[in-house]
Amino acid sequence: MKKICPILIVCLLCVFILQQTESVAITETLYGRVIVLDPGHGGLDNGASVGSTKEDELNLKICFALKEELEAKGATVYLTRTDDNDMTNRTYNYSKQDDMYLRVMKIDEYKPDLFLSIHLNSSTSSAWGSQVFYYKNSEEGKRLAEYIHEAMKPVTGTRKQISTCSFYVVRATQSLGVLVECGFISNANERGQLKSAKYQKKLAVSMTEGIEKYLNSFETSY
Ligand SMILES: [Zn+2]
Repeated sequence: MKKICPILIVCLLCVFILQQTESVAITETLYGRVIVLDPGHGGLDNGASVGSTKEDELNLKICFALKEELEAKGATVYLTRTDDNDMTNRTYNYSKQDDMYLRVMKIDEYKPDLFLSIHLNSSTSSAWGSQVFYYKNSEEGKRLAEYIHEAMKPVTGTRKQISTCSFYVVRATQSLGVLVECGFISNANERGQLKSAKYQKKLAVSMTEGIEKYLNSFETSY
C-alpha cells in the first residue's frame, strides 16, 4: 500500500479546521451572548385585546420566533415566561405589582447582555407601526433602541420615533434592555399581520438584525 505523506494529512486537517472556524464566525454572530426575552402580560392579564385576539398570546408567539432567530445565530436565549401564566403563576388575585417585580428579578438573574420586553400597542385612533422605548436615563438603552428601531422600520413601515419612558421593566432592572411595541393590535390591518406566523418571523428577523448591529458596534477595528 502506498504510504500517505503525513504532511499532506496535517495540511488537509488544517484546511478542514479553518473552514469549520470560518463557518462558525459567519453564521454564529451572536455566539456567547445571553439575551432575555420578556413576553409582556400573561395569565389573568391579557394586555390589550380586540375580540379573541389577545396581546399576551401574540407577545409569546413573537418571542418564540425571536428566540429561534437568535439561537440560530448562536445566542443563549431565556424567556421570562413560556406559557400563558404570568410570573406569579396565580389564577386568582392578580397583582401587576407582584408580576412586574418577579419579572425584573428573573431578567436580572440571567445577567443578560441585553433584554427585550415584547408588547403590542393599542389606541382609539387608527395608529399603526412599531415603536421602541428606552429608560430615560440610559444612554446605552437609547443606542440599543435606535438599532432595533432602524431594523424594524422596513418591516412595520413605522413613522414613529424611539421614545423615552419610565416603564417599570426598564427602570427597575439592572440589565440593559428596551421595550418594543411591535405594532398596534387596535389597527385591523396591522392586527391581521401580527397574527400571521410569517409576519411574526419577519419581526423576529428584523429585531435580531438590530441586536446584532448594536452588539457589533462595540467591536473595534485595528
Ligand atoms: Zn402590553
